[in-house]
Amino acid sequence: MNEFELIQKYFKKDPLDPFVVIVNGDDAAVFAPRDNVEAVISVDAVVAGRHVPDLCPPDGFAARLIGRSLSDLAAMGATPRYVLLSLSLPAFEPGWVDHFSSRFHQLCVRFGVDLIGGDTTKGPLSAHLTVIGDVPKGRAIGRDGLKAGDDLWLFGPDLGGARAYLAVLNQGEQNQEIWAERYWRPEPQLDSGVALRGVANAMIDISDGLCQDLQHLLDRATKTTAVNLQSRTLPLCEHLVTRFGLDKALEYALTGGDDYCLLASIPPNSRVPPGGTRIGMVVKRDSHRILLDGKPLPDFWKLGWDHDQ
Ligand code: ADP
Ligand code: MG
Repeated sequence: MNEFELIQKYFKKDPLDPFVVIVNGDDAAVFAPRDNVEAVISVDAVVAGRHVPDLCPPDGFAARLIGRSLSDLAAMGATPRYVLLSLSLPAFEPGWVDHFSSRFHQLCVRFGVDLIGGDTTKGPLSAHLTVIGDVPKGRAIGRDGLKAGDDLWLFGPDLGGARAYLAVLNQGEQNQEIWAERYWRPEPQLDSGVALRGVANAMIDISDGLCQDLQHLLDRATKTTAVNLQSRTLPLCEHLVTRFGLDKALEYALTGGDDYCLLASIPPNSRVPPGGTRIGMVVKRDSHRILLDGKPLPDFWKLGWDHDQ
């Protein structure tokens, strides 16, 4: 099967969205802008051997690709509309591509996006997904705006599961389905993102680890701002504590990454949408920028971001 046959068979889809004017299959796609919105766009890569193991199952590759990319739109409070898939495959192997594309299209339907274009080439297994969405004018939720007095809220299932999955990946452990699910099927928190428009002062999605991503919010706030996290409120993924002990479980939850939860700074007495957990407070900085139960984070934690901690 050559490249053109492969695109035709697996990646040509008629869009469902009525705003698409020229569909996938031309030199470029065309869509009409909606009224009173701003466009939100982002691109993310998934590279085998770097973002996923070298031997990567096709459905997991598809789910991680879409989940990670759409999570960035969720973090802006955007509604996703379209995606463009740039795919590099070691071989045009029908079995793999069949599974990958079925899962991919299934998730497109689930998240309400149309695949309006892309590119396909031979090369090491990797993909870049461009995601396009929109927000009502002026309502995108950025990283700026964290301020003392706010509460810090988490939206999403729980923390640390994806990191735990990687920790036991080659150890043949049984009963870790929930961790595998967190890793291979990240759930972009799109509904929460939309519900947080006009509620959150600042927001980010957790891809690199809660503390590291929180650091990005703190970087945009005044230097006198800090966050105090409360360990007992953190939603730890199932079996983490029994398998690793509380200290390691907290480390995975706060530094592990790949959680794709939303981290939002919300003024007290706001109408917080359902599904959130309040995990800490934004406070005036005394010494460290991030505290856990009022104390500095253990210095052996690999955060790699704050050299004055
Ligand atoms: P061009 O040479 O003009 O870039 P291509 O042959 O690369 O055209 O692609 C033909 C059409 O197929 C384009 O509309 C492109 O957007 C689409 N396409 C190519 N690869 C993919 C893919 N992996 N997923 C979705 N659409 C794709
Ligand atoms: Mg092309």
